[in-house]
Amino acid sequence: MSAKQVETLMDRIVSLCKRRGYVFPSSEIYGGLSSCWDYGPLGAELKRNLKTFWWNAMTSRRDDVEGVDAAILMHPQVWHTSGHVTEFNDPMVDCKTCKGRFRADKLEECRCLNKPSKTPLECGGELTEVRQFNLMFKTHMGPVADDSNEVFLRPETAQGIYVNFLNVKNSSRQKIPFGIAQIGKAFRNEITPSNFIFRTREFEQMEMQYFVYPDEDEKWFEYWRQERWEWYKALGINMEKLRWHEHGKDELAHYAKAAYDIEYEYPFGWQELEGVHNRTDFDLTRHMDAVKKDLRYFDEARKEKFLPYIIETSAGCDRTLLTLLVDAYDEMEIKGEKRVFLRLSPKVAPIKAAVLPLVKKDGMPEFAEKVFADLKKRFKVFYDVAGAVGRRYARMDEAGCPYCVTVDGQTLEDNTMTVRDRDTMEQTRMTTAELMAFLDEKVNG
Ligand code: ATP
Repeated sequence: MSAKQVETLMDRIVSLCKRRGYVFPSSEIYGGLSSCWDYGPLGAELKRNLKTFWWNAMTSRRDDVEGVDAAILMHPQVWHTSGHVTEFNDPMVDCKTCKGRFRADKLEECRCLNKPSKTPLECGGELTEVRQFNLMFKTHMGPVADDSNEVFLRPETAQGIYVNFLNVKNSSRQKIPFGIAQIGKAFRNEITPSNFIFRTREFEQMEMQYFVYPDEDEKWFEYWRQERWEWYKALGINMEKLRWHEHGKDELAHYAKAAYDIEYEYPFGWQELEGVHNRTDFDLTRHMDAVKKDLRYFDEARKEKFLPYIIETSAGCDRTLLTLLVDAYDEMEIKGEKRVFLRLSPKVAPIKAAVLPLVKKDGMPEFAEKVFADLKKRFKVFYDVAGAVGRRYARMDEAGCPYCVTVDGQTLEDNTMTVRDRDTMEQTRMTTAELMAFLDEKVNG
C-alpha cells in the first residue's frame, strides 16, 4: 500500500470515529491537545466491552488469577527500584533544519515538521547524535513543589502488581502458580506520539503477571503465549493479520529473559499490539533488596522459600480498540452508493441490536417499543423510527451494530420480527423469546 493510500484509509477511520461518536480529539473546542483523545458514546461503550472481555477471560472465568486496581501515583522509590528512572528511555534525535524532535528508532513513523509528507529519513534535514530521553511524567504531591515531593505518573501498571504480590497472596490464599491482573491508565511522555490512538501519552493497559516456580517458567511462558493468541481469535480479529515477533538479544528489555510481541498489520505496517515477557525474578528481587523485607514465597509442597518467576502479558487497551476498528472497517458499493460497514463482533459491539418499526403506523411502533423495552433489560440496544428502513440499516451498519430487528406487517399476525445480520444481510424471522436467546448466544456465548 502506498503512503498516500495509508493516510487515506486511516483518515477515513478517524473520520468515521468522529462522525459516529467513537473517538473525538481531546479538548477539541480549544483546538485539541496533541496525542490526547476522548472516547464518545459508542467508543466508551466499545472500550468498556473490550475491558470486560479481557477481564472475564483473564480473571473472572479463572480461579488462578486475582484482580487488583492499584493507585496511579506510587511511592517514587518504586520507579528508582524498577529501573525506570534510569532506564525507561527512548533514543531521541533533533533535526537541525525543522527543529523537530524524533524517536530515533521509529523515524519511519515520524513526519518532518516542514515537509509533513516526508519522514525525517527522507526530507534531507540533518539529524543530531542520538541521546536518551526519559519517558516518565513527573508531578508534585501536596501543596509544595520541590524535589522532596516529586512523584511519577506510572508508565506501566505492572509495578502496582509487584508491590502487592504478598498482599494478594496472603489475602486470597492463592498458591503458585497464580496470577494478578489489572486494567488501568499509564502515562508515557512519548517523543513522537502517532497514528491516532495507536501511540499516545495517556493510555490504558491490560496487564497480567503470573507467578511461577523458576524451573517452570518456560512451560508457563508457552502457555500464556497460546492463551493470548486464542484470546484475539475469540475477539474476532482476522488472524491472518496477526503474527509473532520474537525479541532478539539486542531488543530485550533490561528485565526480560524472553519476549514475544503479538503484532498486527495496521494500515501503517506491522506493529506491536501486546507483549508476552518472561521477567524472571528481576522485579521482586529488586523490590526485596530495596525495602529490605523478605518478599519470598514459602512453598508448602516443596518446603522451600524463593522468589517466583513472573510471566507477564501486557496489552494496550486503546491499541486493541484501534485494532478492532481497523479490522472491522469495510466499504462496499451498493446500488452505486458507497457504504461503510463496521464489522465488530457482537461480543464487543457497543450496540447489540437496533429495533426498527417498518412504518410509524398500524401498531408497529407500539410493538417495537415493547420489544425494545424487553431487550434493554439485558443488552445495549437502540430504537430508531426515523427515515426509510434502508437508511436506518445503513446508519446501524456504520455504527457497528450487528443486528437490526424490524417489526413489520407480519409481526402483528404471528409475533415474529425479521432479524437482519449486518455481515450476511440475511434476514431470519424470530419471536421475542427466540431473539433474546439468539442475542444471548451471539453476545455472551
Ligand atoms: P513501543 O515499542 O510501541 O513503544 P513498548 O514495547 O514500549 O511499545 P510495552 O512497554 O511492552 O510497550 O507496553 C505494553 C503494551 O502497552 C504495548 O504492547 C501497547 O499495546 C501498549 N502501549 C505501550 N505504549 C503505548 C502508547 N504510547 N500508546 C498506546 N499504547 C501503548
